[in-house]
Amino acid sequence: MKESEKLFSHRRGEMVETLKRYGISNSRVLDAFLEVPRHLFFENKARDCAYNDGAYPIGFGQTISQPYTVAFMTTLLVERCPGGKVLEIGTGSGYQTAILDALGYSVFSVERIFELHERAKKLISRLGLHVVCHFGDGTLGWMEHAPFDGIVVTAGAPGEPESLMRQLAERGCMIVPIGGNGSQQMTVIQREGSGFKRELFEYFTFVPLIGQEGWDDTVF
Ligand code: SAM
Repeated sequence: MKESEKLFSHRRGEMVETLKRYGISNSRVLDAFLEVPRHLFFENKARDCAYNDGAYPIGFGQTISQPYTVAFMTTLLVERCPGGKVLEIGTGSGYQTAILDALGYSVFSVERIFELHERAKKLISRLGLHVVCHFGDGTLGWMEHAPFDGIVVTAGAPGEPESLMRQLAERGCMIVPIGGNGSQQMTVIQREGSGFKRELFEYFTFVPLIGQEGWDDTVF
């Protein structure tokens, strides 16, 4: 292993220890964080920041989410929906996508910014991940591949995204931050027969989910 890879691997271990201190305890999730080389989702010049527990700009006004946030959402998913087909809304850097792939899900991911979609798709392919990426408005979901066992929305929604809810399989669950511009409450929406069960968790700050069933992009 090259010296730089050894250093990144060491720092990945430190990041996982930080996640544990913050209360992330699911061993499948922690193993996925140890496995995925987060620095590859950063530009060369920013790679030293890759294992800090912070969000980081990836261009076009967007961010790669903070490791704790990714771990929190992934734990909510894994504990309710341990396997199957997952739709991610907001590919961004592709890091959350790679974590879902490492957990063995069959992953579909949608991004609305063409340049980010292209960049993530290239990296995902270079890493040999079996993820299907799509450029478009994720608030409408991806009907062609529905129903999904899980849906992870990695941008802040103004309300419950109805088209996405309709694309959940029976017992399928969606992890989605919902709220105003400043902060959003992490919400789990699980399909139960003809209805839905909701669970509410802590508040986070996300970039906005922009689209037909999200925010209007003229608001930001
Ligand atoms: N999962 C990403 C990661 O690990 O890098 C998080 C990226 S960022 C917090 C959220 C992403 O959602 C941005 O790339 C943004 O362009 C995207 N986004 C916002 N609204 C969207 C929509 N309607 N459809 C698809 N992507 C959307």
